[in-house]
Amino acid sequence: MLSQDSLAVHAGRNGLTELGVHAVPIDLSTTAPLPSVHDGGLAYEHMATGGTHREGQSTVYQRLWNPTVARFEEGVAVLEDTTEAVAFATGMAALSAVLLAVVATGKKHVVAVRPLYGGSDYLLASGVLGNDVTFTTPAGVHAALRPDTGLVILETPANPSLELVDIAGVAAAADGVPLLVDNTFASPVLQRPFRHGAAMVLHSATKFLGGHGDAMGGVVAAAPEWTTRLRQIRAVTGGILTPWPAYLLHRGLATLPVRVRAQQASAQKVAVALAGHGLVLRVYYPGLPECDPQRLIGTQMSGPGSLLAFEVGSAEHAERIPAAVGMITHAVSLGGIDTLIQHPAGLTHRPVAADARPHASLLRVSVGLEDPSDIVADLVQAIEATR
Ligand SMILES: *Cc1c(COP(=O)(O)O)cnc(C)c1O
Repeated sequence: MLSQDSLAVHAGRNGLTELGVHAVPIDLSTTAPLPSVHDGGLAYEHMATGGTHREGQSTVYQRLWNPTVARFEEGVAVLEDTTEAVAFATGMAALSAVLLAVVATGKKHVVAVRPLYGGSDYLLASGVLGNDVTFTTPAGVHAALRPDTGLVILETPANPSLELVDIAGVAAAADGVPLLVDNTFASPVLQRPFRHGAAMVLHSATKFLGGHGDAMGGVVAAAPEWTTRLRQIRAVTGGILTPWPAYLLHRGLATLPVRVRAQQASAQKVAVALAGHGLVLRVYYPGLPECDPQRLIGTQMSGPGSLLAFEVGSAEHAERIPAAVGMITHAVSLGGIDTLIQHPAGLTHRPVAADARPHASLLRVSVGLEDPSDIVADLVQAIEATR
């Protein structure tokens, strides 16, 4: 068995030699030649009901199947240690498909561990896809279960406070109800939730998997029990990832382990530097011992990652800092090659209920691949210039 670093480079690249190519081909076809009405019809029916493309059959139509997307899916499944993965146009399209699949089982109640990504929180709270929701803490999961609970959902590290949640603990508390883990912040390099009892692992591939801030996508890695339902929903609702971003996201997987480790090493330095700065009240980073009381780094998660958050003395000060950075970009999103800073309460977590919204003096930083001393210097000058 190859190591994960080698798999990241090679997964999803099978058959290239036979094709006489070295780079993964991008298949842009929206439709595919049909051998006959009968065989085309069978292929259509098989894929529209959630089946995978059968070797030698027509792929019929891009909304059902695309070879470039399938290569990316294979790469993610290999890295997440699941059997299969299903890719969507965005992370939110992926979460929507999961909710539709859960509601379709007749169990429409979701137990959601807060904090979650603001968009996920809002989608769940709005109920637009027919779900009910109870927001709770990891300790409250068991008590929140109802006979019609069809899903438990958590995010770790959580967004934006970087709290770590014990996946195996919540899986046990869920008492057989399937657990979805949003693994966007950790990436499969640092954490493989399937090994800890998750039924489904979700990524906004827009973030670390792509890693360059130039392609959107979402993906759910799971066993066939779920991927079949998700492909069926994807086929009928049309949320499939398209070939160009699929190519870019797949290419991103090859450098994922190297990027994640380099960004993590820098984040640790940035966190320590900020923690020692007089105008910073508190730093949230799982690599600081006080931020990992359950000691999940080294067991559940192999390292603390490259996202951190920090609090300054007032909301007014926090709001001025993103406008004062130089090399760093003031922007939402995360997990890319360059460092980004944003104000969660005002932006990503704006739609979250006021009592669950992050503190207004909190800023979130996604540490990129720049020299960590340049990142620290930029943050420090911005913090000091706006005091
Ligand atoms: C960005 C993000 C999402 C949503 O993904 P999109 O690709 O933006 O739709 C979901 N979960 C987390 C943790 C995210 O950071």
